[in-house]
Amino acid sequence: MKTNLKNLSIKEMERFLESLGEKKFRAKQIFSWIYKGADSFEEMTDLSKDLRSKLAEDAEIKKLNILKVQNSEKDGTRKYLFGLDDGNSIEAVFMKYKFGNTVCISSQAGCRMGCSFCASAINGLQRNLTAGEMADQIISIEKDTGEKIGNVVVMGTGEPLDNYENLSGFLRNIHEKDGLNLGMRSITVSTCGLIPKMLEIAADFPQINLAVSLHAPNDTVRSKLMPISKRYPMNELLEACRQHIEKTSRRITFEYALVKGANDSDGNAEELASKLRGINCHVNLIPLNRVSETGFSGTERKDADRFREILERRGIQVTIRRELGSDIDAACGQLRLKNNGN
Ligand code: SAH
Repeated sequence: MKTNLKNLSIKEMERFLESLGEKKFRAKQIFSWIYKGADSFEEMTDLSKDLRSKLAEDAEIKKLNILKVQNSEKDGTRKYLFGLDDGNSIEAVFMKYKFGNTVCISSQAGCRMGCSFCASAINGLQRNLTAGEMADQIISIEKDTGEKIGNVVVMGTGEPLDNYENLSGFLRNIHEKDGLNLGMRSITVSTCGLIPKMLEIAADFPQINLAVSLHAPNDTVRSKLMPISKRYPMNELLEACRQHIEKTSRRITFEYALVKGANDSDGNAEELASKLRGINCHVNLIPLNRVSETGFSGTERKDADRFREILERRGIQVTIRRELGSDIDAACGQLRLKNNGN
């Protein structure tokens, strides 16, 4: 089987080239071509013809197929549905913010965390994405839009910390100067709260932004929305967050999807404020995107504002996430679900 070079780090590519009897300094050249969007060896004009044909025999550069793009006329948001070579599909989103172009990528095809409001949980986990498939979402979008991506959020389908090894490879590769040269501080990883991996990522990538999907002020509410709360109760989760902050000296973002009638009462806001007191954090309130299969709907704007005010009054930093692409209807994970559920 041919080696897919998109999955390799520079070090691994050096070893691969040495195994072909080639000079290892070629690795950086090839790596840099791949991250500039090359998907054939033909394009790598600073390599000899001989080397290019040798590479074509033993290696390949796989790429995602763009199956569908939805473009927002309003704000330039673009939602992509990509096909993988085994028939699975994944989503990524391109967003234009004042602080720069941002891409939201998927880390798995499907997800096994089972959150009850989430479209990606509906058909379970199909498989982990490779490091190359994660990077390729960004590379393809840069190519398609002709725009440089300045920020990456791993908040699409999947639980990134449930695919830690490939996630780590991906993070290191996009951080490489010869890769996408993205600063770790421009990358955000979102987790439903896999405690052991949260502590690992604090040690391995202390500069990365961590977002934790909390969605509830206590275990009773949380366990109705997120099965993971049975494995990792909230007091342990918040303790892990404190440790993460202490290790990295960075603020944590808590995501809180406001679900009508489930977690959006005044009492819920009061309890959340008291639980988060003293934690260096920011709360991101997201009115739930309706996923018709789940039966949940989002909190109305005026109630979301009230929830925010209660947190603010109690000294918690909080924003309501601006909704981009509201004119392209498919909410998180729904393009993929409509496609075939894989
Ligand atoms: N598994 C990771 C990252 C992927 S989901 C995590 O749980 O954080 C990214 C965010 O979108 C999470 O906060 C998730 O709970 C939230 N989310 C999922 N479905 C949603 C929906 N229908 N509306 C709003 N947010 C949703």
